[in-house]
Amino acid sequence: MKIGFIGLGNMGAPMARNLAKAGHEVTGYDMAEVQVPGVGLAHTSAAAAEGADVVITMLPNGEILRAVAAQILPVMTSGAVHLDCSTVDVDSARAVAELAHSHGVQAMDAPVSGGTGGADAGTLTFMAGGAVEAFAKVAPLFEIMGQKAVHCGGSGNGQAAKICNNMILGVTMIATCEAFALADKLGLDRQAMFDVVSTSSGYSWSMNAYCPAPGVGPHSPADNGYQPGFAAALMLKDLRLSQLAAASAGAETPMGAAAEELYTAFVEEEGQGAKDFSAMLPRFAERNG
Ligand code: NAD
Repeated sequence: MKIGFIGLGNMGAPMARNLAKAGHEVTGYDMAEVQVPGVGLAHTSAAAAEGADVVITMLPNGEILRAVAAQILPVMTSGAVHLDCSTVDVDSARAVAELAHSHGVQAMDAPVSGGTGGADAGTLTFMAGGAVEAFAKVAPLFEIMGQKAVHCGGSGNGQAAKICNNMILGVTMIATCEAFALADKLGLDRQAMFDVVSTSSGYSWSMNAYCPAPGVGPHSPADNGYQPGFAAALMLKDLRLSQLAAASAGAETPMGAAAEELYTAFVEEEGQGAKDFSAMLPRFAERNG
């Protein structure tokens, strides 16, 4: 396939490289003029998009996505697919899909989970929203860049799945961290706490697969001085998206709101945005004295 790839950052560059390695003709554009081995270089986003069967965007946020979409959609071939893999707000995803349809372009929002390691190894999970035909067309690309793709329904549903998942993740990480810090105060050994909770009804991915306590459970960023992993600033971005979506849809999400408030304090007031999001545990422990 002829693929345009716009946004060659930490995630986009390895994804584009994997597509080129698999034999696709990939032309990339990034405003920072990033060059990726095997990927042709365009000097504008429109030039990367023109004549492509599929144009992939991997951009920082919804505002930038809307601006790039306005440049690429008018020049794209009728029937081609715009595949947006960025994590953005649901409203932007749906607005961009509508604009695509007005230009005769198929649209699919497919944010990912798996981080830069998954992008590099081609083991991402895609959560896709859009028409069945568009999903079928890009499925072979998902297979190269990832290990799993779930079709979640119409436009915006990929973003909806992503932010609901990450809202649960933010909330359970905070709950796990505050429980560890409470256990400390109660004189309960962290290893004993892990052994009980990881096999009891308090278990979760945050406890079992990504334990925030150093030296306990599987290897995780806690064992590496809380280097990310998944940076607290990115968790805050996703929690904000969940709260935007909740406000726009009129849904009550009190735990998500509390998680957003805590990560806002951690990232913006305390300057800890570059730490892994599991560094909430030393934060609670310190505050508990
Ligand atoms: P990044 O900042 O490394 O890359 C974004 C790239 O977009 C940059 O290279 C930037 O120069 C480019 N860009 C910005 N505006 C542009 C424009 N108008 N035209 C062309 N290029 C432009 O970010 P990233 O870590 O690659 O993340 C990309 C997306 O993936 C984000 O939406 C993020 O939330 C999501 N995501 C990231 C991770 C992760 O672990 N990094 C995991 C899952 C999802």
